[in-house]
Amino acid sequence: MSQSRFSAEGFTPTDNPMKTGIQGLCPRCQMGHLFSGFLKLAPRCEVCGLDYSFADPADGPAFFAMTIAAVPALALGVWLQMEYGLPLWGHLFITLPLTVLSCMALLRPLKGWLVCSQYFHKAEEGSIDFDWHAKAKGNQQNGHTPAA
Ligand SMILES: [Zn+2]
Repeated sequence: MSQSRFSAEGFTPTDNPMKTGIQGLCPRCQMGHLFSGFLKLAPRCEVCGLDYSFADPADGPAFFAMTIAAVPALALGVWLQMEYGLPLWGHLFITLPLTVLSCMALLRPLKGWLVCSQYFHKAEEGSIDFDWHAKAKGNQQNGHTPAA
């Protein structure tokens, strides 16, 4: 059996990527840290050595943070406007900071969750299994199809 870069002996990989990710822990050992800054991923786990280069959540955390935070923030802004006729500077000091802070608060746990989910589901860039194709070609000539 081939050893994937996702597995390692002696560590208990996460079975709950949401919990592990929100805590900002390594998905392979659940002891090391994912982040070296607020949102910057560490190059690798300091405990099990898992290389975090597989992690590519792209703009996923930003999308989810905006989606989760924007609706309540907009509702608050509209409510303040309709109920109290809040002037523009009021929104500048209440609605805007609340929107920005709630997005900021969500980014890190969401990024951790997405990275751990990527590890958990072994999601990576697509590649061609040349061995499988070579086997398929060989078996085709014999009139068989290869087992996966
Ligand atoms: Zn680790």
